[in-house]
Amino acid sequence: MSASSATDAARSAAARASELRALLNRAAHAYYVLDAPLMEDPVYDRLYRELLELESAHPELRAIDSPTRRVGGAPAEGFTTVTHRIGLLSLDNAFSFAELEGWYGRLLKVLDRTPAPEAPLPALALVGELKIDGNALALSYENGVLVRAATRGDGERGEEITANVRTIRSVPLRLAIADPPAWVEVRGEALIPDGTFAAINAERAARGEAPFANPRNACAGTLRQLDPAVVAARRLEFFAYILHLPPDWEPAEGSGPAVPASQWESLRWLEAAGFRVNPHAALCPDLAAVEAFCTLWEEKRRSLPYATDGVVVKLDDLRLQAEAGFTQKAPRWAIALKYAAEEAPSRLLRLVAQVGRTGAVTPVAEFEPVPLAGTTVSRATLHNADRLAELDLHAGDTIVVRKAGEIIPEVVRVLSELRPAGALPVGLPVTCPECGSALVREEGEAATRCVNSSCPAILRGSLRHWVSKGALDVDGLGSKLIEQLVDRGLVRSIADLYRLDAALLASLERLGEKSAANLVAALEASRRQPWHRQLYGLGIHHVGEVNAKALAHTFLSADALAAAAAERPEAITAVYGIGGEIAQSLQQWFATPANRQLLERLQGCGFPLAADAEEREAAARAAAASGTGGGPLAGATLVLTGTLPTLTRSEAKALIEAAGGKVSGSVSRKTTYVVAGEEAGSKLDKARELGVAVLDEAALRALLEGGPAG
Ligand code: NAD
Repeated sequence: MSASSATDAARSAAARASELRALLNRAAHAYYVLDAPLMEDPVYDRLYRELLELESAHPELRAIDSPTRRVGGAPAEGFTTVTHRIGLLSLDNAFSFAELEGWYGRLLKVLDRTPAPEAPLPALALVGELKIDGNALALSYENGVLVRAATRGDGERGEEITANVRTIRSVPLRLAIADPPAWVEVRGEALIPDGTFAAINAERAARGEAPFANPRNACAGTLRQLDPAVVAARRLEFFAYILHLPPDWEPAEGSGPAVPASQWESLRWLEAAGFRVNPHAALCPDLAAVEAFCTLWEEKRRSLPYATDGVVVKLDDLRLQAEAGFTQKAPRWAIALKYAAEEAPSRLLRLVAQVGRTGAVTPVAEFEPVPLAGTTVSRATLHNADRLAELDLHAGDTIVVRKAGEIIPEVVRVLSELRPAGALPVGLPVTCPECGSALVREEGEAATRCVNSSCPAILRGSLRHWVSKGALDVDGLGSKLIEQLVDRGLVRSIADLYRLDAALLASLERLGEKSAANLVAALEASRRQPWHRQLYGLGIHHVGEVNAKALAHTFLSADALAAAAAERPEAITAVYGIGGEIAQSLQQWFATPANRQLLERLQGCGFPLAADAEEREAAARAAAASGTGGGPLAGATLVLTGTLPTLTRSEAKALIEAAGGKVSGSVSRKTTYVVAGEEAGSKLDKARELGVAVLDEAALRALLEGGPAG
């Protein structure tokens, strides 16, 4: 790195650190004091980690007001502040097993147990406990009686909330220990179960109050209620997980459990003293066992009635814990392994414009890779220009990305507070990135398009669609191969696929002779695919698999469909399920010279683009059965009104359709007959006004049987 770029990097690290500090401090205040978070927890955690890493790479950036120096938030006003007898700390986070193993390695080092290079890792017993996503409480007992309860606050001083905590049934007011020590300090997590949370938010909504963002914030808000009766009504729960006893205390013989020597024994002591201890914890002989515990609970935790966001791994032996000690903010002997997040911050690297087979241009954000919901994500589509404008993306922006399970990743929003100074907005290009022609956005259309039909991106997309499963289903012609064929100019249209020979294909990268021969055979076989698949494969706007089937059934060749599209659009809309938009799209498609040319070229190389004999027969049989193309009411449009003496509306409709007629909801000059029953309304008046023939049920039946309307 040159001297000037090194200075630039240092300057930008300083700017980034200061922006992160400001944003995280604001978020911590909103979270800890106002109980109304500004961002998702995993986003906070990752930004916090980034600040931590910047501070460790550039120690001169460590500022006195950095959130990395503080535990939690300052105690809120309106409560008495109390100083904890023993400070409450935070926990360091690990976001992967690799980071968990890194923590274990550092722990061994502090304990002076690092093994020789080839030697196995020494096994230390560890306790795996669920990380309950609630609020830490500090409970102080004197001579066995609960005298004080406080929030964690800034770790040294918290808010005194004894009256509220007394209402929590799983907090014993007196320890179930015969001869308790002068003082006992217990730490644990207060929580609101999911069901209660939903009820609290429903009540708040009914009162017109803003809902709590999550159970943890609801719990924090409840603990800070000034009226203990409200707290009691909300039925908080409490799990104890840390025990502090006077260092020199020895229980009188036979008066209760022995002084614990390990975290596991502490949990048992807490149980014996009357606390609720979370049952889903495990004493693990080594790191592998604790990792198995984490894997087990990653899924299983979803069945719990309360929120958890990871596993806390603690060194079991209390003597070793004391030896390992603390960093400024957290114990070295414990770590929180956080479960895969569904949201994370990342930095925008670039915006690319992706051209699809219809020419529609999709803006795609490429960003620094982030692990999300079990996979690494580095790009997300922004759908269209409107969404892009809504996000207001600027170069180098920090963005929030979300991916839940199988759901496609999305950019949720921009953290504009972290925008680099002077960053310029990013937008879609004005010309197609593939062929350079001007992009077009028609009024009222969401999509920006490349309208050059020979654009290589459109061609690649059309080829991919033609060979896809629902269309011609050609095995062995993947995206990479299509790219090569288009880039080398070997394929300029779908029709060219049928001119490829095995020798030429075999000369391409990554394609052996055998695969080349198989591909030629697959292409050959694709000529025998049914006509509706061929039609679908053409990729006409709005003609998906279902519509292609319906159309192919009535119009038995591309020529027949083209003629109808140009001259008789009503014949197209007469097909069940096909509306005017599709007829128009077909009309446009067939009227485009390049598409006409494609059809000719396909036919020229022996592609049928029509139903074969078997399909024609099936269509004829179906037409005879349904009456289309020749029933007594073929071509007629009927309107039903009023109550008929014996037929229901749907029976009459079914009979008319079976006879080749169409039933419409409104009367116009095009209406052939109005069928009127009792209490016929305005439709009958309209029919009379327009001079449309009116039938009763008997006349309709006569018509259905092929007789005169009577
Ligand atoms: P933490 O929640 O990551 O870990 C420490 C806490 O874990 C302890 O204080 C304790 O309350 C809890 N815990 C649960 N089960 C435990 C167990 N079995 N043993 C020991 N501890 C257990 O760290 P933190 O210091 O409380 O603060 C960070 C948390 O607050 C993060 O989850 C962070 O996302 C959230 N936060 C969010 C925002 C925001 O804007 N969304 C702002 C600030 C903090």
